[in-house]
Amino acid sequence: MLRSLTAPLKRYARWLHTRWPAGTIERLPETRADGSTAVPGLYIAGDLAGVPLLKFAADTGARAVRTILASPGFARERRGKPAGVHDLIIVGGGVSGMAAALEARKAGLDLVLFEAKRPFQTVADFPKAKPIYTYPRGMTPAGDLQVTADVKEALYEELLAQTRDVPIREGHVERVRRAGGFLEAAVSGAAPVRGLRAIVAIGRSGSFRKLNVPGEDLDKVYNRLHDPMDFRGRKVLVVGGGDSALETAMALAQCGAEVTLSYRGGEFSKAKPENLEGLRRLAADPSADVAIEAPISDRVTTAAGEFLGPGRTPGRIRLETGSTVRAIRPDAVELERADGSRHHLQNDVVFSMIGREAPLEFFRRSGVKIAGEWTAARVAGLAAFMLFCLALYDWKSGGLLDDLSRRAGAFPYSLGRWLAGRDPKSLAGIVLTSAQGPSFWYTLAYSIVVIAFGVRRIRRRRTPYVRVQTMTLAAILVLPLFLLPEILLPWLDAHGRLPTATVANSGGPTA
Ligand SMILES: Cc1cc2nc3c(=O)[nH]c(=O)nc-3n(C[C@H](O)[C@H](O)[C@H](O)COP(=O)(O)OP(=O)(O)OC[C@H]3O[C@@H](n4cnc5c(N)ncnc54)[C@H](O)[C@@H]3O)c2cc1C
Repeated sequence: MLRSLTAPLKRYARWLHTRWPAGTIERLPETRADGSTAVPGLYIAGDLAGVPLLKFAADTGARAVRTILASPGFARERRGKPAGVHDLIIVGGGVSGMAAALEARKAGLDLVLFEAKRPFQTVADFPKAKPIYTYPRGMTPAGDLQVTADVKEALYEELLAQTRDVPIREGHVERVRRAGGFLEAAVSGAAPVRGLRAIVAIGRSGSFRKLNVPGEDLDKVYNRLHDPMDFRGRKVLVVGGGDSALETAMALAQCGAEVTLSYRGGEFSKAKPENLEGLRRLAADPSADVAIEAPISDRVTTAAGEFLGPGRTPGRIRLETGSTVRAIRPDAVELERADGSRHHLQNDVVFSMIGREAPLEFFRRSGVKIAGEWTAARVAGLAAFMLFCLALYDWKSGGLLDDLSRRAGAFPYSLGRWLAGRDPKSLAGIVLTSAQGPSFWYTLAYSIVVIAFGVRRIRRRRTPYVRVQTMTLAAILVLPLFLLPEILLPWLDAHGRLPTATVANSGGPTA
């Protein structure tokens, strides 16, 4: 009975991500919801704009162009621009940059797109036969670039086919800054290029995060899995707890490697549910066919064309949650478990899949602030905000400030005069009565802040999950803290609709 009551609660708590976000907050360049930055005319799209998924990358790229087209003065600037100045510079030929390019071409913009390596380099680097998850399923990205394929090779082909007509200029852009009234892209080994607007869509192309352990520089340590078949029969350590780590571990095990998955956390809270389920099934039964959307095991063939299906030469996955890699040696790795004990595992290969740093230097060079970086102005702003909060709290809880405003008959006590001639039981009368107390304004301000941040969050992270989660949390806070005590309960009380009023009116217990 108790179990049946607690199970839904547990599911709900998990859904709300009570243990998340795990780890440290990632540093990203500061952008507004439409991708614009503090550098006029410079926009950021794709992974660096927030949600690191293919559909969002395409969506933010196309939307950035739409925002630019609608920006005041852009049409006039286009008409008056000197020769050699492009309408739009796009940096990065990944999903986002290409989606932006398609949208810009459709609008007839004169654009230049720089790509440092080759178009869709990030996708080209996905492991062979990697299943593709196209989240959120119900979302159709803005613009023409769509992603429907369910496996890496098909995705890459699909993306190339849709963007064949996009002209690409090979070049590594060092920075984009304002100069002489335009945006100027500094390109390695080439002349700078000027444009009216620029979209930076360079993905998470920064350096791979380091484990910072001895042996990390050995040749057997990789950050990227190309073909899992290359590691068949080998003893592999995969490090990390996100989707890349889980997908790497599963692909390797399905191709016959003996995999140990080491993760510092107690639970894999950062990974997609499909990957968690797949990992759980594979760890229990190595021959399970786990890749739910696109079974990798159906697609993996050896160079000789040999098919490795479920149950054929499976490897295994051993989970080492709560463990930390302490050293990597040519033939072994040393892991430390949560209880402090250390043990050695025989090992041929290590995949360190703990993510990449965002390419922050690019943005620092371009004059874009990095969210969360402390500057003197930020420290002063935070101190001022804390002082304001203290004063507000003092006022709300009947402290010195409240005393002063009450004696002076100042706001909010002065609102009483608006009650004259009004029915105190009407909605306006109830609101005016409540509004004479500081707590009304305190909780109203609180509710506005919660709703404003909620709307910002929903606009920034347009997933169904974030929308429902944020609206639920806002409702949970605004209803009992503001609407109930300040308006609904006083209204019910004034109209004799509260249970206590009924008991009192019915005479109550006889004395
Ligand atoms: C291993 C892996 C698996 C993934 N699996 C999935 C999945 O199943 N489903 C999903 O939705 N998402 C997945 N993703 C995420 C998805 O790949 C990204 O969200 C998407 O590629 C981001 O697009 P983007 O255009 O922002 O950046 P990218 O695709 O990374 O493109 C950036 C481009 O910019 C170029 N570039 C970088 N710096 C410069 C410079 N200075 N000058 C010029 N060019 C530059 C790069 O060469 C690159 O081509 C996965 C990511 C990885 C790494």
